[in-house]
Amino acid sequence: MILVTGGAGFIGANFVLDWLAQSDEAIVNLDILTYAGNLENLAALAADERHIFVQGDIGDSALITDLLTRHRPRAIINFAAESHVDRSIHGPEAFIQTNIVGTFRLLEAGRAYWNGLDGKAKQDFRFLHVSTDEVYGSLATGEPAFNEAHRYEPNSPYSASKAASDHLVRAYHHTYGLPTLTSNCSNNYGPYQFPEKLVPLIIVNALAGKPLPVYGDGLQVRDWLYVKDHCGAIRRALEAGTPGETYNIGGWNEKPNIEIVHTICALLDTLRPLTIGPYRSLIAFVTDRPGHDRRYAIDASKVERELGWKPDETFETGIRKTVQWYLDNPAWVGNVQSGAYRTWVEKHYQGR
Ligand code: NAD
Repeated sequence: MILVTGGAGFIGANFVLDWLAQSDEAIVNLDILTYAGNLENLAALAADERHIFVQGDIGDSALITDLLTRHRPRAIINFAAESHVDRSIHGPEAFIQTNIVGTFRLLEAGRAYWNGLDGKAKQDFRFLHVSTDEVYGSLATGEPAFNEAHRYEPNSPYSASKAASDHLVRAYHHTYGLPTLTSNCSNNYGPYQFPEKLVPLIIVNALAGKPLPVYGDGLQVRDWLYVKDHCGAIRRALEAGTPGETYNIGGWNEKPNIEIVHTICALLDTLRPLTIGPYRSLIAFVTDRPGHDRRYAIDASKVERELGWKPDETFETGIRKTVQWYLDNPAWVGNVQSGAYRTWVEKHYQGR
């Protein structure tokens, strides 16, 4: 048994689905179901006894303690977070509460539980914290990619809150010996991503014939990783990572945002052509995000060398699968856009 938090969100849901497709080890999935939590992502598991969904807050110490005591997991994997930079600029409070206070409470409950374990169970237990490359701040063109020793220089309330949580995780290892692992990953894309993030936003708007908003000059550079490759790296870190270590996870795919948008437009031009002309005619440059980091790049050599992990997808194969997934799942897209996904839980997960 493992305890996953935030498993109804984008990466968490992909992780839960992949995990149960590859192993029979059950999952307790704790998610408070914010706007980003969508149990429709886990529709395939609605009748699966190996998936125990609990709606609740990682900041609820009594609930976490109860779940740990009842289910005795061998690991906690913390995906739960407020994750959108723009939202953190307009309302940072929730980011402080969930990403910092919530992670702290989860660590505290995890530590008490781990202290109560004996022998092999205690030795094998892991607390894996899922984090971001944004904690390292912005790189200039030509500067080497972020490795694990890079200084933390977060620039948005989102990245500052994730940086604070990473520091707490580190401290719980160094001070209390809790066997923690931290992964810092670059931008993910793939199925089930809420269409406020660049890739699904562009796909969904394009299919609706709406403008494709691009911040500033569109030359902000990010590293891109297909979500299922990220899930594989997390599984690998859980199996073989060294307690106390951090692992940078990336796809060696540095690309400016505008290139991402052009790639999606070109794919849609072949898969679902517009009668009025190419999709790129819908591109609309909008005022840049305040404090927008210019470049992130990940040096993934440690996770490759020490854990033997490599991504399966190139950007070209991953983005093609992603665009196809959104084309194949109009009901999911429609429910997210109309807000109907909010009531999916009442219809399908009653009494679970
Ligand atoms: P997401 O916003 O899609 O999902 C977050 C999930 O956490 C949602 O299901 C939400 O309901 C849940 N949640 C929020 N607050 C909670 C709370 N207090 N208690 C319990 N559940 C709560 O995010 P995501 O993109 O899936 O990201 C998952 C994790 O990976 C985050 O920690 C994020 O910082 C990190 N990360 C994301 C990316 C990316 O590109 N998306 C890249 C690197 C790291």
